Amino acid sequence: MANYYEILGVDKNATQDQIKTQYRKLARQYHPDLHPGDEAAAQKFKEINEANETLSDPEKRKKYDFELENPGMGGFNFGGDGGFGGFGGFGDIFGDIFGSFTGGSASSRAEQNKKGQDVTIEVELSFLDAAKGCKREIKYNRNEPCSACKGTGAKNGTAYTTCSTCKGSGQVQYVTGGGFFRSISVKPCSDCKGTGKKITDKCEKCAGKGYNRTATTVTLDIPAGADNNSYMRKRGFGNASTVGGEAGDLIVVFKLLPHKLFKRKNFDLYVEVPISFKTACLGGKVNIPTLDDVYELNIPEGTQSGKTMVIRGKGIKSRNGVGDLYVTIVVEVPTKITKVEKKALESFDGELELKQYDKLKKYSEAMDSLYGKN
Ligand SMILES: [Zn+2]
Ligand SMILES: [Zn+2]
Repeated sequence: MANYYEILGVDKNATQDQIKTQYRKLARQYHPDLHPGDEAAAQKFKEINEANETLSDPEKRKKYDFELENPGMGGFNFGGDGGFGGFGGFGDIFGDIFGSFTGGSASSRAEQNKKGQDVTIEVELSFLDAAKGCKREIKYNRNEPCSACKGTGAKNGTAYTTCSTCKGSGQVQYVTGGGFFRSISVKPCSDCKGTGKKITDKCEKCAGKGYNRTATTVTLDIPAGADNNSYMRKRGFGNASTVGGEAGDLIVVFKLLPHKLFKRKNFDLYVEVPISFKTACLGGKVNIPTLDDVYELNIPEGTQSGKTMVIRGKGIKSRNGVGDLYVTIVVEVPTKITKVEKKALESFDGELELKQYDKLKKYSEAMDSLYGKN
């Protein structure tokens, strides 16, 4: 995956102004007009434009940053019909989402350009809801395609004629430069704002806009394993197109709330379990939290503080994999002990010999040799 930050030579945290300045500088430097016939410069110019297209758009940049930090992860994806069968593996989602801003064929790009804007919203999930999956009703505002005129803005969806300026294509060609540098470009027709249509009688419901600002509710079936900053895409639930294309998508970015016991990395869970000195010494059973129920873990005799045990398959069970549960044992030293306890401890310690402590023994031997006692 191309690193757009490196291509533009800007820092990962660069501001929009810094990106704009750097883009302009490089675009001038590598402009094809200045390097006729230079393939390498042309390629570089193309890359610079691609990088700028993504980084200069805060929404695209956010998605790109996520992909960059989580290679191959992608987000969750709804099927085109909003059905839940459409969740893909991470790999194909990656291609799908990226297809929309790194190019593709000319015709699909033209369609993409007509598409309405995506609407991105953030949704907070509790740690457990994200880990186990949940249903969530989400309310948000969007420009919904007007149902009365089917998004055309024309009364009954029929009161329009073909634009005579662009003959219905929505685009006009124009010529820039001259002589050697003459080139033909295409831009949206200004007479019909790229729709190809001239409205003769406006739809009353939307005043000819083709969309209405509407409070929308969708129910998301969030599968187990949603991570912080991962997202789901719901096709067609974004803003209406203003030029007769499809509506954009709704992108729901998840923000996970922390949990008192669990931490996670991908599908693995981590828990820190304090045990007493006595349990560490003699062994015993301790209760460990898992996503479903309490798990009884056997602590062997002589367990050291910091020891990590792995319980296979007790992490997050997602359709993209099952994680493990990592249990780290922490031996806790009691505070505020009584005189009687102190005495008992001292007499216990007096009985112990150095050879019963593995680390302490090696440590004190190393210390002795350091100062020439051995
Ligand atoms: Zn036109
Ligand atoms: Zn309407």
